Amino acid sequence: MVEQNEPFIPFHLPDIGEDEIHSVVETLRSGWLTTGLKTKQFETEFADWIGASHAVALNSCTAALHLALEAVGVSEGDEVIVPTMTFAATAEVVHYCRAVPVLIDCQGDTLNIDPHAIEQAISPKTKAIIPVHFAGQPCEMDRILELARSRNIAVIEDAAHALPAKYHGEMVGTLGDITCFSFYATKTMTTGEGGMATTENAEWAERMRILSLHGISRDAVNRYTPEGSWYYEICYPGYKYNLTDMASALGIPQLRKCHEFREIRHRYAMRYNEAFNDMPEVIVPQVNNDIEHAWHLYVIQLDLERLRIGRDQIIDLLKQRGIGTSVHFIPLHLHPYYRNNNMSSSSKKFSVANQAFTRIISLPIYPKMTDADVQRVIEVFTRIIQDHRR
Ligand SMILES: *Cc1c(COP(=O)(O)O)cnc(C)c1O
Repeated sequence: MVEQNEPFIPFHLPDIGEDEIHSVVETLRSGWLTTGLKTKQFETEFADWIGASHAVALNSCTAALHLALEAVGVSEGDEVIVPTMTFAATAEVVHYCRAVPVLIDCQGDTLNIDPHAIEQAISPKTKAIIPVHFAGQPCEMDRILELARSRNIAVIEDAAHALPAKYHGEMVGTLGDITCFSFYATKTMTTGEGGMATTENAEWAERMRILSLHGISRDAVNRYTPEGSWYYEICYPGYKYNLTDMASALGIPQLRKCHEFREIRHRYAMRYNEAFNDMPEVIVPQVNNDIEHAWHLYVIQLDLERLRIGRDQIIDLLKQRGIGTSVHFIPLHLHPYYRNNNMSSSSKKFSVANQAFTRIISLPIYPKMTDADVQRVIEVFTRIIQDHRR
């Protein structure tokens, strides 16, 4: 049995080392705190690392998604296809553009957006699709891009979980029209708050850059360094979405550790798989062929028919025994806003997401965990399942 006095294993902890602390302190001492040369450096390193032509640093993935939609021209009355199995941000940005999010169902095994459901949801008003690479596993991009390209629909990827991930040998960030990453505190690398948009299209990159800072044509470096001048022009009514140099100073060393972090998460995912594979009550994450999973999340599905207690009780027991977990996600169509606004018309439309929602638990998986922590999660979880078999 688990010792009562063992420390709690939180659902997530960021991995911040001396490199990061030193880098941020250096920026604090430099006298230049907000968007400047550090952010430029972060963008350049990020674009190189992904293999993308352009990277625009922003203060969140939500901001990146919003500007991506604006860049490709989503406007009032347009429809944007969004999976219901996602976080609030993926759909709310569609509202920012006064467009309409069209929620659709996911696939039962990967919990990724269902290409068949995309095809059925496409209408003459469809302007964009936002696939979410759930848990860090790339969506079926070949099918999605084929559906979109033949109809002149933009593909904006929500890659908040997918850093780093590969699809058929190619990095996520080089596949669709614009890809949006998150550096929120719980993501695979962090700047506290932050995000990045990558694209091959120079015009979209420039538009996002200008919109990110009040729609002004020249950024602060150009204006306030000795080479710059006081003159600027407002080209659009823009936003305040720029990333600070303090955040970028944190992001640069984090990015350099990103592969190493992924290796550790991958190793932990394989240990979980091995431990749970033979338990009929537990369905381990399904991974497609020819992809590289970022393993941002490790989401198991319970076979509730084989258990005497439900998902919520299992989460409570895990918590009582010192393990933090989470649920990704409460499908959007079940939330009051989307329910009340009739965006979820028939719940039959979401039968896969509805069923998955009752069965999913996200177990802790991050490089700050030790091998012993992983072992403890395995033992505690296995014990709870064994004790509640039907
Ligand atoms: C975290 C998350 C976001 C939002 O990222 P922020 O950087 O916090 O704006 C968007 N989509 C998904 C799927 C996420 O998990």
